[in-house]
Amino acid sequence: MPGRYTKFYSLPSRLYLKGAPVMIEAGRLLLDNQLNCVVGQIRLVNLGEALITGATVCFTPTEPAGEPFTHRFSGFSIGRDALCARNDAVPFPDQNVQSFTAAVTRVDFSDGNVWTAPKDAEWVPMPETEKRVSFGDPYAEKMYKEQLTGADKYKAWQDRDLWCCGCGALNRAEESFCHKCGKAYADFMHTEEEFMQQGKYAAAEALLTSGKKDDILLAGQLFTELGAYKYAA
Ligand SMILES: [Zn+2]
Repeated sequence: MPGRYTKFYSLPSRLYLKGAPVMIEAGRLLLDNQLNCVVGQIRLVNLGEALITGATVCFTPTEPAGEPFTHRFSGFSIGRDALCARNDAVPFPDQNVQSFTAAVTRVDFSDGNVWTAPKDAEWVPMPETEKRVSFGDPYAEKMYKEQLTGADKYKAWQDRDLWCCGCGALNRAEESFCHKCGKAYADFMHTEEEFMQQGKYAAAEALLTSGKKDDILLAGQLFTELGAYKYAA
């Protein structure tokens, strides 16, 4: 027996407009098998610290093309990284709709502030968050993991006025440190070569402190490889 809803269209995931307080994480068209009608659903994510209590979304049917209409989502109070609007089923005027686009036009905050989108602003997908690929160099890899413990799962990226941390959290461009794990944006931007040099240097320093002849010789070799002859004396 089929469930109540059958999905037949999905928006591109993670739509965003520069400066917006939310992103459209997902949207879809569903056939309501119980009421035999087509409804839309949308999921918004709060990208800021201010509590969101309402949002207005403009739906534009694209196949067949139809008149845009708005729906106001309310009845929630959500903090950063939380989802809103996901449970509302929005009826579409034309039941033949096959696809649509969506844009958030207004966001209401708990303190009474309101954000409104520029007219006709287009919401465009963010980059995919990909798993991080290990560095080829073991020193670079060790240093990366030491510096970015807990944030080494994903490849960090920057897009418009947001950056994605290696822990997966989305941060505002003006936030130098991830709001979730506290790692610095600048640390993700080092190259493998820079991590390798730092890793080799740290390893050489550790070897020097052991006092064993073989370790000291190896430390000297690492310093030489780094081109830092002055440390190898
Ligand atoms: Zn993070």
